[in-house]
Amino acid sequence: MTAATPSPAATPSPATAPSPSFTPPTRFAVPGRIAVGDQAAAVWQTATLTEVRRETPYASTFRFAVPHWPGHLPGQHLMLRLTAEDGYVAQRHYSIASAPDDSGHIELTLDHVEGGEVSGWFHTVAEPGDEVEVRGPVSGFFAWPGDRPALLVGAGSGVVPLMSMVRHHRARDLDVPLRLLVSARSPEELIYARELGAETTPVFTRKAPEGVAVGRMAAAHVAPLLAEPPEGGWEAYVCGSNAFAEHASRLLVEAGQPVDRIRIERFG
Ligand SMILES: Cc1cc2nc3c(=O)[nH]c(=O)nc-3n(C[C@H](O)[C@H](O)[C@H](O)COP(=O)(O)OP(=O)(O)OC[C@H]3O[C@@H](n4cnc5c(N)ncnc54)[C@H](O)[C@@H]3O)c2cc1C
Repeated sequence: MTAATPSPAATPSPATAPSPSFTPPTRFAVPGRIAVGDQAAAVWQTATLTEVRRETPYASTFRFAVPHWPGHLPGQHLMLRLTAEDGYVAQRHYSIASAPDDSGHIELTLDHVEGGEVSGWFHTVAEPGDEVEVRGPVSGFFAWPGDRPALLVGAGSGVVPLMSMVRHHRARDLDVPLRLLVSARSPEELIYARELGAETTPVFTRKAPEGVAVGRMAAAHVAPLLAEPPEGGWEAYVCGSNAFAEHASRLLVEAGQPVDRIRIERFG
């Protein structure tokens, strides 16, 4: 197995934690077709890199063949493990970007974190044919099986699990309303830009196309969606850095979204 450069400073990323003000929502009734057994998810499996696609100057998508992948729900993540020849192990969480129907394959989209051990290995060393280990899927909390209106709010690589939801919505031709608000520094740094459609409103914080305002995500982006919610209301999914998650969930609550219908995934 090809492995990351050993580094004594590297530690596994912390597990995601809900914000202190967050009330845990009720669990979804997961449709049987894409239900995932806990046992299979506990086993490390070999994932073979089959393709690398550049998304932005700093992010690429890595496609893997995982023949015994147990399946996942849009929004879930996995654990990825690299082992060096001397036995040193680096383990990280990554959201699954692909839709559940992509049988036997999964896709991850990684930002190249400066000095980052695992993301650095993927962006500078990894090539098709390399093998890593994955275990999952993990965490049903941030999953969206497609059974209720979904308001997706992400920033940077926080769009990754949300894209799995968008892809699932399209693949199954679902009628249930779905909207994506995504923040990026510039159009060049908007991950999946080519794939985003009418469901998406991009927000640019540093540079925008002519005629589009530059600035942070604001009440003006969120309020219209909450002023006329779909029947049954939105289930909101927020994903990004800690700072973005706080900012976006505050905007949602101020616009009237019930706090117990906001699910948050933090990338740290
Ligand atoms: C549930 C979950 C899902 C995630 N999904 C994704 C995903 O889909 N795509 C993705 O790119 N990342 C994702 N992450 C982040 C990922 O787990 C790693 O933290 C990230 O790839 C950095 O790991 P590294 O080994 O490259 O860097 P490390 O060697 O761990 O860190 C190098 C340096 O960068 C800093 N750093 C670490 N993480 C970040 C970060 N995210 N942003 C900025 N600076 C950082 C560290 O403080 C350190 O100084 C997810 C995290 C969680 C908890």
